[in-house]
Amino acid sequence: MIVEGAILDRSGPRAGYVRIRAGRVLEVGSIGCDSSGGRERRIRGIVTPSPVNGHTHLADFLSVREPPAGTLAELVRPPDGYKFRLLQSAPPAAKRDAMRAALRWMERQGIAATLDFREEGIDGARLLRAAARGSSVRPVILGRPPAGEIDRPALEALLAVADGIGISSAREEGPDRRRTLARACRRAGKLWALHASESVRESPDDYLDPRPDLIVHLTRATVDDLRQVRAARSTVAVCPRSNALFGRRPPLAEMERLGLPVLLGTDNGMLRPPTLFREAEFAYVSSRLAHRPVSAGFIARSLLVTPWEFLGQPDRAAITADGPASPLILRLPPEDPEYQIVTRAGEQVIVPPGSPDRRRPGR
Ligand SMILES: [Zn+2]
Repeated sequence: MIVEGAILDRSGPRAGYVRIRAGRVLEVGSIGCDSSGGRERRIRGIVTPSPVNGHTHLADFLSVREPPAGTLAELVRPPDGYKFRLLQSAPPAAKRDAMRAALRWMERQGIAATLDFREEGIDGARLLRAAARGSSVRPVILGRPPAGEIDRPALEALLAVADGIGISSAREEGPDRRRTLARACRRAGKLWALHASESVRESPDDYLDPRPDLIVHLTRATVDDLRQVRAARSTVAVCPRSNALFGRRPPLAEMERLGLPVLLGTDNGMLRPPTLFREAEFAYVSSRLAHRPVSAGFIARSLLVTPWEFLGQPDRAAITADGPASPLILRLPPEDPEYQIVTRAGEQVIVPPGSPDRRRPGR
């Protein structure tokens, strides 16, 4: 198959064609220069790297009802917020099925990986591994050790299953405990992550000590806070729709202006399904509504490029012949590809790489 139109990847947007067979990129070049001799099926569209969901709690997909009214703390704060009661009362098989369903939603959007904060210790991490068996979505599991005194062998066992640790917030885990956990992550070559400045401003001196690889939210961060985050070289994940439910929004324009590496996430599965393209559109539109506009290019990079750099796989954000990426093919007008991706992409325009004219059978 030849996709003629635009390419949007790590090198930015450009006109061109991509020749694809069985999900692999064979050729990339200027329109009209492909070697197919006109014998291959040809579509007009945009080719990008696979997107990554920068922040999820997939097990929360247990509840699909409208979330009850309440403060953020009443809904999601450990140990007895609504979501934790939900998790505690559900049998493991129900949680595994909920996570599997959420992963299927992401498969249909061509999402290749999700950075999931997985509570419930080693059992929680194992359950997500089991749920993701056979899925095309790779879960990057940021596990959470149980509260209380740290049990070293249990922590090491958790890190053997998970890709790192993601805690609720620095306010809920004292500095000594944070340092112990972060040190264990470093030793194991794993990621250290936390939520910060979501409902109230926290001091970067707290959440940057020890330095996290990933900070989620920063809704209440000031420009000076963001400068400190930049100096620490941490990556930020933002979840604009989840924040909006509680009347807040992340300072995206300031993050773009400062050049912070930003990922876009869909957050708790009970608040939002993991519909990443809708998150992207909301990020774009809500920044206009707040008179603090961000560029479509910034949002597109946060889906398609920055996550792969964060995961240490920058090659997966490049569309090149024989590259490692299995690309995303979108039947969209190639004009202004960043704007197309952010405002128009969705399941209905994704072309499965193996079968250009047929949609994947419903799953
Ligand atoms: Zn979260």
